[in-house]
Amino acid sequence: MRILVCIKQVPDTTKVAIDPVTGSLIRSGAAARMNPYDLYSLEAALRLKDSEGCQVDVLTMGPPNASEVIKEALGCGADHGYLISDRAFAGADVLATSMTLKLAIRSLPHSYDLILCGKQTTDGDTAQVGPALADLLGIAHLAWVDDIREVDETSLIVKANLSKSQQICKIQLPCLLTIEKDYASPRFPSYLNLKRVKPESITTLTLKELGGEDVKSLVGSLGSPTSVEKIFPPESETVTMKLEGKTPEIIQSLNDYLLTQHQLSRGSL
Ligand SMILES: Cc1cc2nc3c(=O)[nH]c(=O)nc-3n(C[C@H](O)[C@H](O)[C@H](O)COP(=O)(O)OP(=O)(O)OC[C@H]3O[C@@H](n4cnc5c(N)ncnc54)[C@H](O)[C@@H]3O)c2cc1C
Repeated sequence: MRILVCIKQVPDTTKVAIDPVTGSLIRSGAAARMNPYDLYSLEAALRLKDSEGCQVDVLTMGPPNASEVIKEALGCGADHGYLISDRAFAGADVLATSMTLKLAIRSLPHSYDLILCGKQTTDGDTAQVGPALADLLGIAHLAWVDDIREVDETSLIVKANLSKSQQICKIQLPCLLTIEKDYASPRFPSYLNLKRVKPESITTLTLKELGGEDVKSLVGSLGSPTSVEKIFPPESETVTMKLEGKTPEIIQSLNDYLLTQHQLSRGSL
C-alpha cells in the first residue's frame, strides 16, 4: 500500500502578531512548525508502515523553507517528500490550495491507495482542504478518524469520532481520511533517520511540473474566488456588577441584564 500524507508548515501561533494597520498576520520572524494535527496523520501512516510495510510519502505546499517540515517527517520515518513551491501558488484560498494539491498528486510518479490529512490546521483552520481534495480527486473520504482498525487490499475499517457519537465505517480504497488528534502519540524524529535525509529525498514541484500555463488560472490568488479582507481578534469586555437581594431577585436581575445584552433569548431561564 502507498500512503501520501499532506502536511502543512504553520506559524507557531503563540508567537504570531497581527499587523494593526492591515489586519494581516505578521509571519516574518515567526517560528514555523509542522501543523500539530498533521503529526497525528503522519503517525497514523507510520503505524501502518510498521505493521503492513507501506510506503509513506509526504506532500506540502509552501515556501522553500517548508522543506523543514518534510525533513521532520523524513526524520520520523517517511520515505520521500514532495515540496510544492512556486510564487504562482501564493495567495491560495481553500479551493486553490486543494486544486494545487490535486494537480501535484496527479503529477507524481506513483498513485496512492490512501491519502491522509490532518483534521484541520492551526492557522487557516478551515478543516476543508481534506474533503475538498478528495472531491477533486474523485475518491471517497471520511473526516475525524481516530482509529484505523483493519486494512486489506481493497478497503479499510476505521472509526470516526463525531464527538456525540462514534462511527465504524468500511471505506473503499483509494480514499482520503482526515485524522483526529487523539489518534496516537506522534513519534519524534530519530537521529538515524535524519542522517539518512539526502537532497534527493525531497522533490520540488513548481508550476511547470503541475501543468504550467495551462493550470495557472486554477492556482494561487488567480484560482482563489475568495480572499481574506482582514484578520482581527474578537473584541471582548469584562463587566463586573454586584447583584443584591434574595436569590430569586438576583436571578431575575441577572436574567433581565442578559436579555438586554442579547446574551439570552426570552424564555431561556
Ligand atoms: C477566504 C480565504 C482566503 C485566504 N487567502 C489567503 C492568502 O491570501 N494568503 C495565504 O497565505 N493564505 C490565505 N488563506 C489561508 C489559506 O487558504 C489556507 O491556509 C489554505 O487554504 C489551507 O487551508 P487551511 O489552513 O484552513 O487547511 P485545513 O483545511 O484546516 O487543513 C486540513 C489539512 O489539509 C492539509 N493541508 C492544508 N494546507 C496544506 C498545504 N499547504 N500543504 C499540504 N497540506 C495541506 C493538511 O493535511 C491539513 O491538516 C486564505 C483562507 C481563506 C479561507
